[in-house]
Amino acid sequence: PNQLMVGKRGLIMGLANDKSIAWGIARALSDAGAELAFSYQGDALKKRVDPLAAQLGSRIVLPCDVSDEDSVEALFASLKQEWGTLDFLVHAIGFSDKNELRGRYIDTSRANFAMSMDISVYSFTAVMQRASRMMTQGGSALTMTYYGAERVMPHYNVMGVAKAALEASVRYMAEDLGRDNIRVNAISAGPIKTLAASGIGDFRYIMKWNEHNSPLRRNVSIEDVGNAALYLLSDLGAGTTGEVLHVDAGYHVVGMKAVDAPDI
Ligand code: NAD
Repeated sequence: PNQLMVGKRGLIMGLANDKSIAWGIARALSDAGAELAFSYQGDALKKRVDPLAAQLGSRIVLPCDVSDEDSVEALFASLKQEWGTLDFLVHAIGFSDKNELRGRYIDTSRANFAMSMDISVYSFTAVMQRASRMMTQGGSALTMTYYGAERVMPHYNVMGVAKAALEASVRYMAEDLGRDNIRVNAISAGPIKTLAASGIGDFRYIMKWNEHNSPLRRNVSIEDVGNAALYLLSDLGAGTTGEVLHVDAGYHVVGMKAVDAPDI
């Protein structure tokens, strides 16, 4: 194992179970020597997150619903008491009404548009307002996005619009926080079978399409994402900020269906 994260402390937000992208990232960081704290959305997830955190030797596991300002405030107040300072933060959180993750974007309701933007976009800004104040020795923050921000993907709809806004917020925060040597980046992951992804219409088809049409002719794993996260969150990524790094087996460079792709 490498020593890239020895002496660094970070908060992982968005762990739901051992299929979560947050789990792949947490494991890569822990293997590299990082000390981790976790936040979970609600009581229902606590029983899932507690044993996973324990597996990585983490004793700080705190509730946080990012749609609630007081809850965000309370999380960082607790974390400040526990640690005082912070070196990195992982934001692996997104949400939209799954009834609107099928059919047409144009049918998005005002209420779900606002909720999707609040939970999937503003929450990263809200947590970085607090986290950056704890990153007194510089720091690195990471959020998760998807190619549906750049190109129209079936069923992704309002989440595509939200991810586009999230990627823009990464660039603005990179500029705001760069003077404090705090880096802000995103990973654009290819489709991975997780709880959140199961809410997206025809997700199995999207995974098959990516597998047969990406340059590497496979899907990515949460380990692939974890290793890329390690680069961005460790000093290996010291020169990189405001970036959206694609970890998608190369799918984003492709212009049309592969000649050898089977009919699916
Ligand atoms: P997941 O279901 O394991 O994780 C989603 C997390 O968001 C859960 O832990 C959930 O509790 C949390 N969350 C939702 N609403 C919240 C709230 N109000 N307060 C606090 N937490 C809340 O699924 P995942 O696929 O690992 O998703 C992590 C991130 O990766 C998301 O931003 C997702 O959009 C992004 N992403 C996923 C894929 C994919 O194919 N799975 C691809 C690219 C990007």
